[in-house]
Amino acid sequence: QVRVRFAPSPTGALHIGGVRTALFNYLFAKKHNGVFYLRIEDTDQTRFVPGAEAYIMEALEWLGISPDETVGKNEKFGPYRQSERKELYKNYADKLINSGWAYYAFDTPESLTALRKEHETQRKTFIYNHTNREKLDTSLVISAEEVSKRIENGEHYVIRFKTPVDETLHLTDIIRGDVKFETSLLDDKVLFKSDGMPTYHLANIVDDHLMETSHVIRGEEWLPSMPLHVLLYRAFGWDAPEFAHLPLILKPDGKGKLSKRDGEIGGFPVFPLDWKELKGFKGDGYLPDALINFLALLGWNDGTEKELFSLKELVEAFDLNRVHKAGARFDIEKAKWFNHQYLIKQNDADLAKSFSPILIEKGIDVSKYDVTRIVSLIKERANFVSDFWDLTDFFFQAPTSYDEKASKNWKEETPALMQELISTLEYIDGFDSANIEAIVKDWLTKNEIGMGKVMQPFRLSLVGALKGPHLFDIVEIIGKEETISRIQKAIA
Ligand code: GLU
Repeated sequence: QVRVRFAPSPTGALHIGGVRTALFNYLFAKKHNGVFYLRIEDTDQTRFVPGAEAYIMEALEWLGISPDETVGKNEKFGPYRQSERKELYKNYADKLINSGWAYYAFDTPESLTALRKEHETQRKTFIYNHTNREKLDTSLVISAEEVSKRIENGEHYVIRFKTPVDETLHLTDIIRGDVKFETSLLDDKVLFKSDGMPTYHLANIVDDHLMETSHVIRGEEWLPSMPLHVLLYRAFGWDAPEFAHLPLILKPDGKGKLSKRDGEIGGFPVFPLDWKELKGFKGDGYLPDALINFLALLGWNDGTEKELFSLKELVEAFDLNRVHKAGARFDIEKAKWFNHQYLIKQNDADLAKSFSPILIEKGIDVSKYDVTRIVSLIKERANFVSDFWDLTDFFFQAPTSYDEKASKNWKEETPALMQELISTLEYIDGFDSANIEAIVKDWLTKNEIGMGKVMQPFRLSLVGALKGPHLFDIVEIIGKEETISRIQKAIA
């Protein structure tokens, strides 16, 4: 059975790279009728941020990709919080000690720094592995009795992995194909510390095994950890899951990795975090479906030109073998385009409902307007509901100023023509868009008046600028009285 996981460390906001990882895991699981679970990797207590875990869960829920199993939900292999599995890891570290795959090391941070410095002056890089480990303060060189004594005395220690000497590992990554690693270049990573906490590597492998993870799908930044992880599975005598490392997400210019600091161009989180007051995609008005669709195409496509996919379609089309190796450029303009596509698909009444709070805040009595109709006229020009006000303000209030450039079309004869227009409008009975248009145009033809001479000043009087939807729709919606009063004000 396919069982995949999203295993974030709750160290703060969930950023776009993390969400993409969660999404690809979700899609892969659903595609294969498998399980997508969420495991909280909170063993590094120094980086723990309160609230971050709840935030991650809420973000996934908002996006519609909630896990099948996690803390408090179908805890088949629980607990799903590593801090609550603390006791378990020591046994596994001991197993590796007993089988000779790991050893105790007592080096102090100071002695390690000194060693590094010494190597530097000799222009050599210090690697904590077979090239050095026999010379260091480890259980490989001191007697078992002494090791026990020092541990009993409360001396700080770490347990390190004993990386095999000079082996070439030929590994397979679903996305990258064959990857080769030289073990002599790897360092003997710390697996466990005397404070009783495992490091990421140990906890991650033990849990992926115990939780029966079939595939590890994660960001490319974890590729360098793959050889250690595969060796750990070997050391424990377990089958390793399959690995798939997702391409990096790059800045829009393709130069370098997108980082959390690239707020304006999309490095920002999915949700705003209270304690950081950062705006997130949600706060910026992105629709979850749009965001999902956009993220799915960061490093994947279905082999056709198709860009718009519902979550269900994504599940059907998704294929890990089609994920690209090359980094994916993050383009916030594309994200906006996706949002536009999903925005215009919503029905007008729902959009009007989303728009209403903004109108109320502006002091508009929404009961007096057909907001649904107004929204239907302008939504094609909007990416977000928050764009609506600038596209519709003239429906709700008369312009307070007139666009300067457009006012150049205001000629000497304009006021007289506008006065005639008023007289024409006054006598129209059925005040609907098509009827008004027919009558006004009839008046223009009969009097041989050029369209532009009237239409531009007319629009300017109502809107304050040469923008907005079909002029006669505006006229109908604001009504006869208001239309006339705005023209009068413009010619006054
Ligand atoms: N806890 C790791 C992270 O924060 C998980 C990496 C992995 O998926 O193995 O991304």
